[in-house]
Order: sequence, then C-alpha cells, then structure tokens
Amino acid sequence: MTPPTLRPPGQVVEIARTLQLAGFEAWCVGGAVRDALLGLAHLDWDLATSATPQEVRRLFKRTVPVGIEFGTVGVLDRDGRMHEVTTFRHDVQTDGRHAVVQFGASLDEDLARRDFTINAIAYDPIAKQLRDPFEGQQDLGRRMVRAVGVADERMREDRLRALRAIRFAARFDFTIDDATWNAIVASAPYLTRLSPERVRQELEKTVEQVVCPSVAFTRWRDSGAFGALIPSLADVSPSALASVDALPLPTLASRPLRKLLRFAALFGGLDGKSAERALRALRFSNHDIATISALVERMTVHGAVLEAQFRSHGVPADAALRALAASLGRLRAAGFSRLLAARLAVTEPPVPAPILRLFHRRLLRVAFRDAIEVADLAVDGDDLRAAGIAAGPTLGRILQALIAEVIEDPSANTRDALLARARAMASVGNA
Ligand code: ATP
Ligand code: MG
Repeated sequence: MTPPTLRPPGQVVEIARTLQLAGFEAWCVGGAVRDALLGLAHLDWDLATSATPQEVRRLFKRTVPVGIEFGTVGVLDRDGRMHEVTTFRHDVQTDGRHAVVQFGASLDEDLARRDFTINAIAYDPIAKQLRDPFEGQQDLGRRMVRAVGVADERMREDRLRALRAIRFAARFDFTIDDATWNAIVASAPYLTRLSPERVRQELEKTVEQVVCPSVAFTRWRDSGAFGALIPSLADVSPSALASVDALPLPTLASRPLRKLLRFAALFGGLDGKSAERALRALRFSNHDIATISALVERMTVHGAVLEAQFRSHGVPADAALRALAASLGRLRAAGFSRLLAARLAVTEPPVPAPILRLFHRRLLRVAFRDAIEVADLAVDGDDLRAAGIAAGPTLGRILQALIAEVIEDPSANTRDALLARARAMASVGNA
C-alpha cells in the first residue's frame, strides 16, 4: 500500500510514462520520495531511468543538458518547467571528493550508490510501486539516518556525506545510526579535503532548511567537524548554539536576513575579526562577510552594556538609542536588535520579552525617523564651504561634530543653527 502523499505531479508522471512506453525503466528517486513518505511537500521530483542521456534527449521535444557528464538531462514540460531525468549509474574511482560515474547500471545499483537509506527509495509512478532494497522506509519509521551499506566505506568515498547526514538528521529530527555516527566522527579529520565552497553550501543549507540548526551545529562540534573546518568554533558554547534557534521565524522576504543572523548568532562568541577570518576561509560572499562580521563586532561592543541596562533601567533613552543606531548604521539596526533579543532570550535569567520588543520598536523608530548620519544633516559640505569654511579634513571633522550634537539633540538640526555652530567650530579650529 502506498501512502496518499506519494503523488508526483502530473507532468512528472507523463515523463515517466513516455520513458516506459519507449521500453525504459523510469522511477522517482531521492528527496521527493523521502519527503512524500514523510508527508512533506517537495517541489523537485527527480526521475532515474535506464535510458541513456542520448535516448532521453531523443524522446522529448525540449531538453536541456544540465549535467550531461553525470547523466542528467533536464526535460521541459508544457509549462516550461524543468524536470531532471538521470540515467542509472554507479560511481567508480572515488578519491573522497570526486566521483566518476558509469552508465549501464541497474536501478538497484543506482540506489546502492546513494548516501542514506532514506534517500535510496524509488517509486514507479505508473505501476505505483516502491523499490526499497535498503529498508529506507523502516528507517523513516524509526526516524533514523543510516548510511547505505558499510558506513565507513561510504564516508571514505565522499566526506561530504558526513555533513549531509548531520543536516538530514537535524532537518527531520532523526537520530543517527551508531555505525553512521562513528563513521562521521572518523571522517572529521579528513573534512579539510572538501572544498570550502561545498562546506559553505552545507552550512547555508543547514541554516536555511533546519528549524533548530543548533541540533546540527552541536553535532558539528561533537563530531570534530567544527574543529577541523572552523577551529574557532571547535568549542562553540551552548548559549551561542541556543541563540541560533531563538531567532524569530522569518517571513519569506526576510529569509536572506535570517540566514545572516543565524550565522552571526553562531559566531556570536567570537570577536569580529575572528568571525571575518573564518567566513573568508569558507568563501562566503563579501556582502555576507561584511554583514555577519559587523553584527558580531558591534555585539562585542554593545551587547553586554545593553544587557546590563535592560536588567537595571529598562530600555535606554532616545539619545542613547540614536547613538547606537548611528554606530550600527541604519540598515543594520533591525538585524542587531533581533540578534540581541535571541542572545538575551537564552541567558539565565532571560531578559523579559516585552523589554526586548520595546527596545526593537524604539531603536527602529529613531533609526529611521531621526538624523543619525552626516547625510541626514540640514546642511552639507557645500553649505559649509559657501559659509566660508575651507574644504579639507577640518570640514569633515566639523560635519562629524555636528551630527554628534544632533544625535544628542535633534532640535539642533536646522540650517541656521548648524551654520552658526559650524562657524564657531571653524573659528576655534583656526585660532
Ligand atoms: P534536498 O531536499 O536537500 O534537496 P535531496 O535528498 O533531494 O534533499 P540532493 O542533494 O538534492 O538531496 O540529492 C538528491 C539525491 O541524490 C539524494 O536524495 C541522494 O539519493 C543522492 N545524493 C546526493 N548527494 C549525494 C552524495 N554526496 N552521496 C551519495 N548520494 C547522494
Ligand atoms: Mg534535492
């Protein structure tokens, strides 16, 4: 009996039917089958077939050679949506990093090269029949990630599997089979052979897919994966890990920000420079490095001070909040506040949520309402030059001094008042 969730989209069934009518095998495989059996939605239903890539390209009108060397052809359906069709294959000659594939394999051989039993279940959508030679369904029922075959050997073939096992276990809240876990621990010293890009992708998928990433990152720590790959996180603290989970759930639009905040929380026990070094080694984008390490660095400067204030006096006054917003930069204020709230929600005793919410609202209000940057002043450099102040470093210092005064007292941000102050500063400077 197949469960009701095992229902591939009509277009996928059509592609499978075309392949089968031409005399080939066609099976749904991989993540979609696993997720359907778990009752979860999955968008990409991949097919595996006995047809060669050339045969697949001949059978369908519109195809894209997405990964021809691995046997993958993209078949476009009527709506222009692409579905991946991959020729049965087995891997040969692996060196722990690169697999060389060979076609002409059977379905069972194709399933045998897959990483975990839960990822090695096939479904024939025409005959409505499952093929599960490694008892993946039983492991789904036991909620367990288990390597296909001999765990040690499978991890030696491809060390990335160690990180994938940890990610799948955290994502589905599964345990990891003992032999598989031991193979992960044994793999840790060799993870440095993976390219930094692949490691970064695993980290990114983890913070994007997993509801409680701390579960995954705790295993990265305990297996030695952090020690090998990100030594500064080798002993990452339970509170830093807990704060990753405590960040608010995102709306769709705020997902990219959540990713950065989750990394900022993970690196929250470090100083900004160490976080930056670690992120650079993992080839994060310059934008991501700048945002994450700035948040980490600002937290080391302001975090403890704000915590002490929240615990004694509540939320600081507007002038102090403006100074904080200025030091963060307007666009980082919201992220900083979310990150701080997550950290302080998991300290003992936690800072009460209403204080953190009030802080968030008031920080954002001053950040976007008040003048906190030189560009927000009622005068600019041209105005000061017209008032007789020579261009040069002094003029720059005067603008900085003016914004500092305006942050203290927003009512000072008028053209006349600022010009008068600027002249006074210039004459003192000249004297
Ligand atoms: P996700 O929802 O994260 O995409 P997925 O199971 O679809 O999960 P993919 O990385 O898209 O994961 O891989 C598709 C399938 O290919 C897996 O289900 C697995 O059967 C196989 N696979 C992927 N990577 C490996 C690997 N490193 N070693 C062995 N098999 C793998
Ligand atoms: Mg996938």
